[in-house]
Amino acid sequence: MPIRKVTIEGVDEILRQPARALRDDEFATDELRQLAADMVETMRAENGAGIAAQQVGESIRICIVDTEDGPAALCNPTIVRRSKKVDVDVEGCLSCPGKEIPVARAREVDVKARTVEGEAINFTARQFLARVVQHELDHLDGILIVDK
Ligand SMILES: [Zn+2]
Repeated sequence: MPIRKVTIEGVDEILRQPARALRDDEFATDELRQLAADMVETMRAENGAGIAAQQVGESIRICIVDTEDGPAALCNPTIVRRSKKVDVDVEGCLSCPGKEIPVARAREVDVKARTVEGEAINFTARQFLARVVQHELDHLDGILIVDK
C-alpha cells in the first residue's frame, strides 16, 4: 500500500505520542524499506516537504525530509548542534490542515541519523531544510506546530 492515509491532529492520538527508537534488527529489512518508500510517496502526494512516521500511523523514529538531492530517510535522528541564530517563519503541517503558524527555529542544525540500511549519516541542514528537520523531529517527540 504505497500512499497512506495521513493522521490528523485532534483525531489521531498517535501524533501526540513520542515514537520509539528503531532497534538494530529493524534496519536493512524489507519492512523498513517499504515504510520509507510509502512515506516518500505519501509526502509527494500531499505536496509536503517532510513527513514523520506517526503521520502514516507508525510510532517509530523515522522521518523523510526532501533535500536538494531528493528525499532522505532519517532513522533515529538527533540534533547534535543548533545555531544560536533563530528565524521565525510560517509553517504548515499535513496533519494540521488549514493551519499556518509562525514558528521560531534554529537557522542551522547538525544532524546525526542512520539510513534505512543502518549506515550512519551526519550533515548540517541550513535555512529551509533546517526548519523541515526540526519540524519532523518534533513530530517524533509528539510535538505539533499548534503547540508552538
Ligand atoms: Zn508536520
